[in-house]
Amino acid sequence: MKINDVVCPFCGCLCDDLEITVEHNRIVAVDNGCTLANAKFMSKEQLASPIRRTGEGWENISYDEAIQYTVDMLLDADRPLLYGWSGTHGEAQCIGVHVSELVGGIIDSTTSVCHGPSILAIQEVGHPGCTLGRVKNRADVVIYWGCNPLEAHPRHMSRYTTYADGYFLQNAFRERKVIVVDVRETETARVADEFIRIKEGGDYAVLSALRAIVRGKGDVVPESVAGVSRSQLERIVTLCKDAKFGAIFFGLGLTMTRGKYKNVRNAIELVDELSRHTKFTITPMRGHWNVYGSNEVFTWMTGYPYAIDFCRGIAFYNPGETSAIDLLARKECDACLIIGSDPGAHFPRGCVEHLAEIPTVVIDPVPTMTTALADVQIPVAVSGIDADGTAYRMDGVPIRVRKVIEPTLPNDREVLKSIHAKMKEAKGQ
Ligand code: SF4
Repeated sequence: MKINDVVCPFCGCLCDDLEITVEHNRIVAVDNGCTLANAKFMSKEQLASPIRRTGEGWENISYDEAIQYTVDMLLDADRPLLYGWSGTHGEAQCIGVHVSELVGGIIDSTTSVCHGPSILAIQEVGHPGCTLGRVKNRADVVIYWGCNPLEAHPRHMSRYTTYADGYFLQNAFRERKVIVVDVRETETARVADEFIRIKEGGDYAVLSALRAIVRGKGDVVPESVAGVSRSQLERIVTLCKDAKFGAIFFGLGLTMTRGKYKNVRNAIELVDELSRHTKFTITPMRGHWNVYGSNEVFTWMTGYPYAIDFCRGIAFYNPGETSAIDLLARKECDACLIIGSDPGAHFPRGCVEHLAEIPTVVIDPVPTMTTALADVQIPVAVSGIDADGTAYRMDGVPIRVRKVIEPTLPNDREVLKSIHAKMKEAKGQ
């Protein structure tokens, strides 16, 4: 059986044109997907039942035992952290907020280690964004700043920019100019029309120089800014001002380098300057397929997008204090529930060591680096494969993620619902 228009639950592009072939409730072929999508849909590493660490290794336990362990762990903790959420659907994120509130814990998503600074900047100066469809059909200048879509979002350029047809462009491939700004020549830089190589940590200075040139104050810009010549900057500004519609996409090369949220704020203000001459927009390249959804769900439920602390009985938000890495580095939390992310693979060593010391439960379909730190892992159905739900694309468009095979395991939503129900019962609510 072939299933068309399947949504890929891997990266923030949420491509919705995959064709999946299913035989006897097993996926046997994936068409239209990139290599990352193929690996995800064809993965056979799913755990069959919950596991618990013993002295020598692991033992299989029932879902009831695993859920009861999680309930007891969260209720016994003084400062529980519920982390991850970017690799699960919105309905599960919603229950996660309820669980955090009930135990007075902290809920944080992977945002705090990726585009958290983008959100801080947007809170200060707003977000002149648009949909990816608008970029595809209108943009004749596209800038990738501090990101490498050919490797991290493999179909971004073919679906929305460089190689995509545009409704309002006669010959999109020839008309469109692609500019890459990065500290090294990436795969994406090699296919760009113009590559600006900047010195590490020089983003803020280059953005400021571009803004000055757009404003007609180019004479204050020195001959070279962070390794980029003034003549190249002037050429880029001319290209941008001559565009009918320009789009900037930026990644962690901008948000997580020196300057952090100030870089993003400066980029947004550059878009503002350019929009006095033409139309320009800016969009963060979100990584996990539903990290944007975690920000949406947390915001409409608590008022804050990530790093939310309920220990005062109300939602409190102070990234840098209430974000997962800071809590773990201070050894403040005494239990952790991890879902839809793999901090064992990405967090700094001190944080990972603390995770290994405290009771930790992982809800994830497959063994990950975080499994090595956990006491219990609860396998679940995979959203977009054998579980359905709602996700938000990197441009903020909500998309329904369907299941393509029948599940043999409960999904995130069902497991969290059981945990929440048992907690309420224990608290007599
Ligand atoms: S680009 Fe991202 S969403 Fe699209 S198929 Fe590849 S991994 Fe999936």
